Amino acid sequence: MSAGKVLVVDDELEVRQVLEEFLAAKGYEVYAAESGPEALNTLDTFKPDVVLLDVSMPEMDGVETLKRLVALRPRLPVIMVTANADIGVTSKLLALGAADYIPKPFDLEYLDQAVTIQVSAAHDS
Ligand SMILES: [Mg+2]
Repeated sequence: MSAGKVLVVDDELEVRQVLEEFLAAKGYEVYAAESGPEALNTLDTFKPDVVLLDVSMPEMDGVETLKRLVALRPRLPVIMVTANADIGVTSKLLALGAADYIPKPFDLEYLDQAVTIQVSAAHDS
């Protein structure tokens, strides 16, 4: 049985590959999207339990993508992945509806814990 479905959104191929490989090894089903629009388009078909969303992306950035995700799926937990995790940025993201955030470069075990917490919280509610 799958541990849950994770939608990874990052414009960098290497990041998508690392996360996809790591999360698949942990038993998650993973869909890796390279942009906000691709992530939004896959919601209906992939039906993620949690989203790992990069903040810094060209065109539609993580903040705009977060706003649209929250509008479309208010109960879907979104974990932001941010390179500059200063308190101003992170508190803004949480105010916009992000469930959590992970600083880049990420600690994969920490990331796994954060994903597990959000997936189980979503299943309990
Ligand atoms: Mg990026």
